[in-house]
Amino acid sequence: DDFAGFGLAAPLLAALERAGHARPTPIQSRAIPPLMAGRDVVVMSQTGSGKTAAYALPLLHRLATDSAPRRPGAPRALILAPTRELASQIAGVCRTLGRALPLRTRIACGGLPREGQIKALEEGADLLVATPGRLVELLEGGHLVLDDVGTLVLDEADRLIEGDLLVAMGRIAPYLPERRQTVLCSATQPPVLRDLAGRLLHSPERIEI
Ligand code: AMP
Repeated sequence: DDFAGFGLAAPLLAALERAGHARPTPIQSRAIPPLMAGRDVVVMSQTGSGKTAAYALPLLHRLATDSAPRRPGAPRALILAPTRELASQIAGVCRTLGRALPLRTRIACGGLPREGQIKALEEGADLLVATPGRLVELLEGGHLVLDDVGTLVLDEADRLIEGDLLVAMGRIAPYLPERRQTVLCSATQPPVLRDLAGRLLHSPERIEI
């Protein structure tokens, strides 16, 4: 059982080796094959299981091999996280694993200056990692479009549905294209989250570790 069997692009295998990740974790072994096949996936696990790389590797593979034209201000993948700290950790993992690929990972989250984020989006973003509130501001301000998002990830989704974040999620949903792959990661699955998953994911593979 190793990463080579998943069909990942060679630069990703090289980055894994460089990061010292010799073998997939159990969550990676179970999540990467359905994600590479384009399926929607629900991942129920605690942090520390390697879930970030589990969804990031297939996502980066698709970005690297997808030949669709790139448009400024139109990321082709979107990862939503409940906090700025988590968003920057996720972006760090994506940059490390994608280091040998010509991809731009951008962050849009509250608590950081908007202007720099807007400028970076205009310069070009393949992958955007965002918190819901700031994403809504940028969307409603016309600074980006989500029409080209082929993969959507909701990380720590049980926290994304708390309070203001759920309101923001409801405002983001209409901007998302219908045809896309969706990944939902959560440590728990309360009823509200089940409802959201039912609306956002199509026949997902459920993986529980
Ligand atoms: P996560 O659950 O995504 O927060 O990852 C937890 C930690 O596991 C991070 O420090 C990763 O760098 C590390 N990690 C992820 N995948 C692997 C792997 N296949 N082998 C060794 N470490 C890993």
